[in-house]
Amino acid sequence: MGSNALNTSAIWGLKELLAIPGGDQIIKCIQCGTCTGSCPMAPVMDYGPRRLFALVKGGDFDEVFSSNTYWICASCYFCTVRCPRGIKITDIMYALKRMAQARGPQEKAAYMYNAFKEAVEGKGRLSELKMMQKYYKKVPMDAFKNTSLGLKLLAKGRLEFKVEPLKSLEGFRRVIEKAKQIEGQS
Ligand code: SF4
Ligand code: SF4
Repeated sequence: MGSNALNTSAIWGLKELLAIPGGDQIIKCIQCGTCTGSCPMAPVMDYGPRRLFALVKGGDFDEVFSSNTYWICASCYFCTVRCPRGIKITDIMYALKRMAQARGPQEKAAYMYNAFKEAVEGKGRLSELKMMQKYYKKVPMDAFKNTSLGLKLLAKGRLEFKVEPLKSLEGFRRVIEKAKQIEGQS
């Protein structure tokens, strides 16, 4: 946003977020970056939690809702337990998901969900490399954006080429099948 003044949609976006349980806490953020430093998913997020919250506070909801951040939040709560202001960051991620869903279909998020699902279904464990390969096939522009980060993670051995299948893979697949049946009935 070029101007300091918030436009009408930004004001509505902020009001909506502040009205959601947990969403109001974002105003306490001091931009220390502890959350992003603790977040295991930050390397594949368009914006880490700190930057996302800066965008929210600045009212740049177009950028917020075009990012993948809250969709790939793994709900691990690392950020929440470490935030010096006691902000319930994970709850805010959920709040943003609900707001985004209310705005209509999220194409990038759907691709990320599918990539995650397919990557996990194969071996019962997540291979980040497989997941991102599948995602980047659908959203190649994101691959260009993240190339240097991917290379750094590879160089540091933070991305595994080979993921061992779960020992109880058959049991895991039965659970997935059951979940699909339940979903089909609902
Ligand atoms: S750790 Fe808390 S205060 Fe620090 S940037 Fe993240 S949300 Fe804001
Ligand atoms: S709860 Fe989400 S945002 Fe927080 S550290 Fe975990 S993955 Fe990152």
